[in-house]
Amino acid sequence: MKSDVQVAVIGGGIVGASTLYWLTKLGWTDCLLLERRELTSGSTWHAAGNTTYFGPYAEMTQLFAGSIRTYLQAERESGHSVDFHQTGSLRVATTQRERELFHSYEKQYESLGIPYFVVENETIRELHPCIRTDDLFGAAHTPTDGHVDPTGATHALAKAARKLGAQVQRQCPVESIRFENDLWHVETESGCVVAQHVVMAASFWTRELLQPLGLNIPLYATQHHEVITESVTELESLDYEVPALRDSYVSCSVRQEKRGFLAGFYETDPVFWGVDGIPRNFTEELFPPEMDRLTVAFERLMHRLPAFSEAGIRTVNNGPMCWTPDGLPLLGPVPGHRGLWMASGFNVGIGTGGGSAEFLAHWMINGKPLFDLPIVHADRFGNNIGTHDAIESIKSCYRRGYQLPDRI
Ligand SMILES: Cc1cc2nc3c(=O)[nH]c(=O)nc-3n(C[C@H](O)[C@H](O)[C@H](O)COP(=O)(O)OP(=O)(O)OC[C@H]3O[C@@H](n4cnc5c(N)ncnc54)[C@H](O)[C@@H]3O)c2cc1C
Repeated sequence: MKSDVQVAVIGGGIVGASTLYWLTKLGWTDCLLLERRELTSGSTWHAAGNTTYFGPYAEMTQLFAGSIRTYLQAERESGHSVDFHQTGSLRVATTQRERELFHSYEKQYESLGIPYFVVENETIRELHPCIRTDDLFGAAHTPTDGHVDPTGATHALAKAARKLGAQVQRQCPVESIRFENDLWHVETESGCVVAQHVVMAASFWTRELLQPLGLNIPLYATQHHEVITESVTELESLDYEVPALRDSYVSCSVRQEKRGFLAGFYETDPVFWGVDGIPRNFTEELFPPEMDRLTVAFERLMHRLPAFSEAGIRTVNNGPMCWTPDGLPLLGPVPGHRGLWMASGFNVGIGTGGGSAEFLAHWMINGKPLFDLPIVHADRFGNNIGTHDAIESIKSCYRRGYQLPDRI
């Protein structure tokens, strides 16, 4: 392992690997990624891989679009598959107001060059025959997004970066970082690495790693359930993969997984994990499923997708998901700590990780980000937000699920 580098990236999930990739791609090849266990060991390995474009904030949509582009680019350069399924997505309107909001986003997608259509119920049924539409007001359809394999994408990014000269050190937990003689000293179990820049891509672990520097970064983990079903007769009879479905009333996203469904749920009363510290011995574990918490969402989902009720449940994953108090990631320099950069706090890190890394790498190399996006800047919470307040804010973000801000 190198002991002297330009950049040390801490954390080998989708975000750390994307950051390593973009730094090397833009010419900073003297980079070392340090991963505690194996690549994807945090939240990345159990993510559903949804990379959808829909959202009310045009600037954030740029991060989503940049992510699919990044993963496909890394696939070409590394020869490692990211397994992109371009199914497109349907965001259904459960009220007339939602439909009006969908229309209000048309201009933003046009200016970004992303295909986006507000479609009628008839089109929903043509695209996704399993969706019950009699109480819908149409949907927003983004035909060019879909899902990737998060593990495949992480490995493709790391491999492409290694080809350009970057290094990846697995099984190498970082114990502490300190700034001394104008350089960062990154202490690991395998020795000290000296770096001009450090990128914190360690998700909810970032909070603890930065506490000794006097930094109070509001990053906390909720539990998050996803349910994968056995094959469904209606899907078996189709010769194409149905689009991903999002429904604010069900508070759920559902995509096709093989010939069954994969559904992820936002609960009204989220359960937190590791608030007083992430257990040192936490590996690639999942939490015990708590299906009672999903009862209401399940009932609503069975109404929207009657075929869901016919399918047996194959797997339930309940894994940790990182949150900031406003639900957006933390990107950019940490004020007062020259050379320290944040790339943490992602709850849709597969959807936004690749684009966020491109945004951050430009900022590090050129002194300014790729475009203006103050809503993700790492300094926006200051240093004094208490745990209770942070958790209350995260709770309200989480329970909002797919509800849109009601403004046109
Ligand atoms: C059930 C479920 C489904 C999901 N589905 C989706 C989805 O469909 N689409 C989507 O966009 N998002 C989804 N997510 C969220 C997604 O998984 C995360 O946003 C994303 O994986 C975060 O990536 P990351 O790189 O920031 O963090 P992580 O993947 O957690 O990576 C952080 C890495 O840092 C390493 N690390 C920690 N401490 C140290 C240390 N001291 N030294 C060295 N390394 C360290 C860890 O081992 C880990 O590998 C889902 C989450 C859950 C729980």
